[in-house]
Amino acid sequence: MSIADNLAEIRDQIRRTALEWQRDPADIRLIAVSKTNPAEAVAEAIAAGQAVFGENRVQEAAGKFPALRASLPSDRSLQLHLIGPLQTNKVKDAIALFDVIQSLDREKLAVALAGEMARQSKRPDLFIQVNTGEEAQKAGIGPRDADAFIRHCRDDLNLPIRGLMCIPPADQHPAPHFALLREIARRHQLTELSMGMSSDYTLAIQFGATYLRVGTAIFGARPPLKEQASGKPD
Ligand SMILES: *Cc1c(COP(=O)(O)O)cnc(C)c1O
Repeated sequence: MSIADNLAEIRDQIRRTALEWQRDPADIRLIAVSKTNPAEAVAEAIAAGQAVFGENRVQEAAGKFPALRASLPSDRSLQLHLIGPLQTNKVKDAIALFDVIQSLDREKLAVALAGEMARQSKRPDLFIQVNTGEEAQKAGIGPRDADAFIRHCRDDLNLPIRGLMCIPPADQHPAPHFALLREIARRHQLTELSMGMSSDYTLAIQFGATYLRVGTAIFGARPPLKEQASGKPD
């Protein structure tokens, strides 16, 4: 199956699932997660009509997307989402490159984003990442601290918070995590929910997802992390 075939099948599945749950398919956006995949694979997805992409590292995205953007036909545009953890020393590059940053999860980062947005006069949309499973090794604000953090980001720092993002624990059923994220968003009248990946995006639609982050189901299996880290030969 080609990238174009995979995209067509996933788009069809999204549409059918949305209708089954009485949702408007237009409310559900597919983010093609292109991390670790070469620019040629992204170009294939663009040729198949895909316009929204996700990357989890600033540096990797900076190596691929400026050239891809420059080579777009004039009637096309790309929307690039940062879905991986963001260090404060990369905030400047992230704001310059990304249209949406989904991994806001702590005070220090919120302050850095607010300062850099003012300096660059550019305000990418932000999602707050919630660590719904309270996993020690995972990024995200804890569910108990989420309400105060959301209020602080919006009211004190005036950040453009559009929604919430979560990555459920790999060893648990995602449904309660999707439900928890939806409930926190509802309390704050946040309309965007980024949840659902290759293995569970239809379930996420059922729970109200508005952004699905799908990688392997579009681009195929990624190399194991060890190989990814070793990168190109010297
Ligand atoms: C890699 C990644 C995805 C995509 O995962 P797949 O299982 O390949 O669909 C989604 N969200 C985040 C945050 C990721 O890092």
